[in-house]
Amino acid sequence: MRWALIGASRIASGYVIDAIRAQEGAEIQSVLSSDAERGAVFARDNAIPESFTDLEAQLADETVDAVYISTTNEKHHSQALAAIAAGKHVLCEKPLAMTLSDAVEMVEAARNNAVTFATNHHLRNAGSHLAIRDLISSGRIGKVLSARVFHAVHLPEHLRGWRINDASAGGGVIPDITVHDADTIRFHLAEDPVDVVAKAGTSGMGEGVEDSVMSVWSMPSGAMIQTHESFTHAFAGTGIEFHGTDGSIFARNVMTQEPVGEIRLVDTNGETQISFETHNLYHRALGLFCGAVRGTGSPSADGIDGIKSLAVAHAVREAAQSGSTVRVDYGG
Ligand code: NDP
Repeated sequence: MRWALIGASRIASGYVIDAIRAQEGAEIQSVLSSDAERGAVFARDNAIPESFTDLEAQLADETVDAVYISTTNEKHHSQALAAIAAGKHVLCEKPLAMTLSDAVEMVEAARNNAVTFATNHHLRNAGSHLAIRDLISSGRIGKVLSARVFHAVHLPEHLRGWRINDASAGGGVIPDITVHDADTIRFHLAEDPVDVVAKAGTSGMGEGVEDSVMSVWSMPSGAMIQTHESFTHAFAGTGIEFHGTDGSIFARNVMTQEPVGEIRLVDTNGETQISFETHNLYHRALGLFCGAVRGTGSPSADGIDGIKSLAVAHAVREAAQSGSTVRVDYGG
């Protein structure tokens, strides 16, 4: 499969180029950048044959089967529509778009053009999360009563830019991290949050966008979810907990891009360490995406997953702004 990268981004150079190249027969043909020089340097540094500044010219290459979109968030919508119209399969970064209706339009366009469309929610590919989901779905903790998500990180200097100061590019911790937590909770519980309350604010990094948020979500089953996302917490560490009628799962250092962390199950038998696979999260995501393109299986997170995580994030932001309970609008 031959790929074109839309966006000369850090997530591409840090994780996804390697994951694409780990797939059998995969090649990266080109990269698009808004800046000719940055694009050329990115192409050279990553051994990519061509760089473009014009998307139409890049997409005109009929040998390209699939695109990976990792530009800033406000560009995903128009770039995805152009790629889909050119008949390319699309792996798009989260959040899919700035508005729910744009995300729905992208997913519908892909369906109408019969191309594979996926959202790069990496966490559901982690061995740790696959093990947690198995524990929950096999009934090891009984009926889930609640979950707590600890996703307050310390944004490294090199990632600060648009994330902390540019609302028009989709900055803020809610589009950046709450979307991942929404996807992870949906993945584990196989149900969609109904409504949310939230408080958001700035605690040292955000310039015009929130850098911290706490929210509480209710689930159709009655489970309550508490989440905390932040860019400013140097020592908090990440984690996720699920508490059920028959046991509790405590997972630490698992809300991350790396295959690390630890999981403990506590129930009437005492405490058990849960082992899990430590494969590369992005390699697995790309493997499933390529399989879906070939007609075997599904991407780990598809377009509907991307719409739903965005819908929850929008509800959290609206709840934080209004101070009211907000029902999640999944767009019908
Ligand atoms: P970057 O800031 O690295 O890249 C975003 C855009 O910024 C690029 O497309 C590029 O524009 C421009 N850019 C990159 N480097 C520079 C630079 N040195 N100076 C000026 N401009 C630059 O963003 P991320 O890689 O962190 O995020 C990109 C997308 O990926 C976002 O949608 C984000 O939400 C998502 N993401 C997903 C992750 C995941 O694990 N699923 C993790 C991290 C991010 P151009 O292309 O025009 O050159």
